[in-house]
Amino acid sequence: MGLKLFNTLSRSIQEFAPLDSAGKKVGMYCCGPTVYDFAHIGNWRTFVFGDLVRRYLEFKGFAVTHVMNITDVEDKIIKRVRETKTSLRKFTGKYETAFFEDLKTLNCLSPHQTPRATEHIPEIISLIEKLIQRGVAYQAADGSVYFSIEKYRGCGCNYGQLLKLNFDEMRAGERVKSDEYAKESVADFALWKARAPEDGDIFWPSPFGEGRPGWHIECSAMSMNALGETFDLHLGGEDLIFPHHEDEIAQSEGATGKPFVKHWLHGAHLLVEGKKMSKSLGNFFTLRDLLAKGFTGREIRYLLLTAHYRETFNFTMDGLAGAKTALARIDECLGKLRGIAGRDALPRVQADQQVGPANLVANFTAAMDDDLNISAGWAAVFDWVREMNKRIAENLLSASEAVSALAAWGKINSVLGLSEQTNGVLMNFSMGDPASDWLGDPEVIKLVLERADAKKAKDFKRADAIRGELKAKGWLIEDTPKGAKLKKI
Ligand SMILES: [Zn+2]
Repeated sequence: MGLKLFNTLSRSIQEFAPLDSAGKKVGMYCCGPTVYDFAHIGNWRTFVFGDLVRRYLEFKGFAVTHVMNITDVEDKIIKRVRETKTSLRKFTGKYETAFFEDLKTLNCLSPHQTPRATEHIPEIISLIEKLIQRGVAYQAADGSVYFSIEKYRGCGCNYGQLLKLNFDEMRAGERVKSDEYAKESVADFALWKARAPEDGDIFWPSPFGEGRPGWHIECSAMSMNALGETFDLHLGGEDLIFPHHEDEIAQSEGATGKPFVKHWLHGAHLLVEGKKMSKSLGNFFTLRDLLAKGFTGREIRYLLLTAHYRETFNFTMDGLAGAKTALARIDECLGKLRGIAGRDALPRVQADQQVGPANLVANFTAAMDDDLNISAGWAAVFDWVREMNKRIAENLLSASEAVSALAAWGKINSVLGLSEQTNGVLMNFSMGDPASDWLGDPEVIKLVLERADAKKAKDFKRADAIRGELKAKGWLIEDTPKGAKLKKI
């Protein structure tokens, strides 16, 4: 069965089919962080959602190119740079570094490309030049360059593809210079903002005079630069639908005359303790705030992944405590399975050769193929845990069945990304990453588990011997503070 996803463009669930004629390669762009502060838990919901989409596409066998931009120049950043009297790079560098640390804490895979806006000024300028040449952008008396919605619509182009807009209420020629504005003020928006005294030394030369790019044009330029004029998937939080994504479509299609993105995916909002997050309500949390309360990245990731991406999610401290319990149930079951798996010689098994009625991989895949129905995916996981526990308790699980079960878990965990640390073995990997192959090889699993036991028993001679055996099989085992990791030689 194929993967079906809700497409904001058509407002319907569609079969996902990439543009690649071989049906293999997928270009995916996620709007990245604006590096002016630490990302909050609402932002993280979107980034973890992006990670889930990428992991699931890879699980389905697609070769994903994942691009996430770094917005390192826009209105809010300039304001903060001015207030803190630092340089742009120094200011954004701090939050960019923190962002990538947090991304790791949540076990999100690193995007393949993370372009910075400030490093794509020439591409941005040439895109604006194209829009002026095509007559859909103009320089106003204030020196800034604006996108003309009227001219764009006059060419037969459609502004408002993601959101129904009421153009009768719009006043022609009205302009907005700020990057953020409401739907009620659909207006010509700024592509290039003429240098203003409050910008300090943040400006670049251009054919339209000194200035800086608007936020929206940055994403059009960087996404097309990385993935081509038309690409498969564009993701972001639903708050970006208007104006950011609507403007991205207008700028890109206005310049190329080609469809910009085939499939738009938007993640829903997050509430904290039932309310919109705000500093004054005391329910505003960065990831770091939650870590300081003693929760782990793994628990936070789990909780963010419990709800369907199109549903508003209520993030609570009780929910985090529940995440701890749920993860402990999974870990306990996996620990028992590993104990049984290590018992005797193992026949070769595949991850999808399942034991018993709880067919984990098939049930999980069926759920996720249905517009990433993660709730049904978790139900499959916990049904499986129950089934495994029952068989273990009744002594009905053989070593080979336990290995098969572990391999199945490894396969779906490549999507869930819940790194575990049990028995000193770290089973944290991604499908599509050659490092995941070892879970399909029971002999390798057995050696890894045996080595962990040997180390535990301080039998370092045996542990070293196993390292040699793994090497002979083409795997390099590495000890990390979180456990052992396998690398293909
Ligand atoms: Zn963007």
